[in-house]
Amino acid sequence: MNNTSLDNNLNNKKRLVVLGGGESGVGAAILGKKEGMDVFLSDSGTIKPHYIEMLNEEGIEWEHQHHTMERILQADEVVKSPGIPPTAPVIRALTERSIPIISEIEFAGRYTDAKMVCITGSNGKTTTTLLTYHILKNAGLNVGLAGNVGQSLALQVARDHHDVYVIELSSFQLEGMYKFKADIAVLLNITPDHLDRYEYKMENYVRAKFRILQNLTPTDAFIYWQDDPVIEAQLKQIATEASLYPFSEHLEPSSHAYVDESDDEIVFDTKATSLRMPRADLALNGLHNLYNSMAAGLSACLLDIKREDIREALSDFEGVEHRLEPVAEIDGVRFINDSKATNVNSCWYALESMGPNTILILGGKDKGNDYTEIEPLVKEKVKAIVCMGLHNEKLLDFFTGKVEAIYDTHSLQEAVDTCFDIAKAGDTVLLSPCCASFDLFSSYEDRGRQFKDAVRSREHKEKESQPITK
Ligand code: ADP
Repeated sequence: MNNTSLDNNLNNKKRLVVLGGGESGVGAAILGKKEGMDVFLSDSGTIKPHYIEMLNEEGIEWEHQHHTMERILQADEVVKSPGIPPTAPVIRALTERSIPIISEIEFAGRYTDAKMVCITGSNGKTTTTLLTYHILKNAGLNVGLAGNVGQSLALQVARDHHDVYVIELSSFQLEGMYKFKADIAVLLNITPDHLDRYEYKMENYVRAKFRILQNLTPTDAFIYWQDDPVIEAQLKQIATEASLYPFSEHLEPSSHAYVDESDDEIVFDTKATSLRMPRADLALNGLHNLYNSMAAGLSACLLDIKREDIREALSDFEGVEHRLEPVAEIDGVRFINDSKATNVNSCWYALESMGPNTILILGGKDKGNDYTEIEPLVKEKVKAIVCMGLHNEKLLDFFTGKVEAIYDTHSLQEAVDTCFDIAKAGDTVLLSPCCASFDLFSSYEDRGRQFKDAVRSREHKEKESQPITK
């Protein structure tokens, strides 16, 4: 035992080790320090300068580019970044010694009694989280935004006071949650994603998602999409005490939100609040966004937000970058950035909301995709596919003969140039790649921004080259 650990034992302070020096880890370390713990943060990668500064300002010990195992294994408890897989050697070593490992959300949840609105699902989490936050904020609530979007929950709990948090939860975060309880839990949908992290077993992924229901009592609400066959099947197998608030496009006996087909109005129906609004007034288009709007609207109803405030916020929300984001209209051709469509299901919803004459940019790092899901929509709506990736063979094999034209490109510029060459007025160019971005880009954000820049610079050049008429 070295001197430091001896001193710590004498101090009898709880030894908290935080693994990962990103937004969630640094937040957890700051909260641990505030709560009087002996905190040590370790990251096997490189911590960004901004986070190093925060740790130093708080006098928190940290290391990066390696793990000092002797120190880590002395922890009473570990907060782990969601990015570190359970198979990482450091996690294995901790598990062998039965040292408890929790997520940042579990940790932060212990130190606040704010109401928690928690949102998960395979697709639509960020959109629904931001939309819910927008409704609550506009209604004047003291609300924080946390989880995968916004600031770390732990940091906000340490430094600010909020009455309500809207939290986006991935399955990775849910894995490290045990006693945490949501007041409102939202499950949007479950389709295969990240299966590499779940031993390629769908049931493991489904189980992780259903952890959002843990510890819910009858006064808590569970909002979910009732037409999802995976959710429906799992609900039959588990017991929950929560009050159920299913939603559906079509009215079912148990629906608390649905579309009234007689006048195309959305109906929200809870004991706390009931309201109707024309579907056409929703700010976000597409069937998937109808579901997201229903989930966000139901959460707001259950929090007693005024009807006018809910209607107003659902209709003036500005949308989220890289999710069906309109980029430009050039010579009658619309360009749409849906770079966040990193799996086949999200591309399905993007295509569902398109008209015919779509030029679809697909490709990137394939996560074991099965493209049969989008085949009927491609045949109905897509006039050309532009493959954009280092390895396009799988896409070319699958789609050749199923669309009028298919192009093989290996950079964003080449893909965009091809789209400009083939598009005619009335067409829509949709970047909705079905794949992760890491073959050609650093992230989906990088891919989306490069797409927007390339489109807008062509727009600029075309304007400049137009003859000036007097
Ligand atoms: P997440 O945070 O779960 O990844 P996002 O809101 O960032 O979800 O959206 C990711 C992608 O999924 C986008 O391409 C978007 O158009 C699509 N999408 C959004 N909501 C849904 C939904 N409810 N069902 C299916 N796809 C959706």
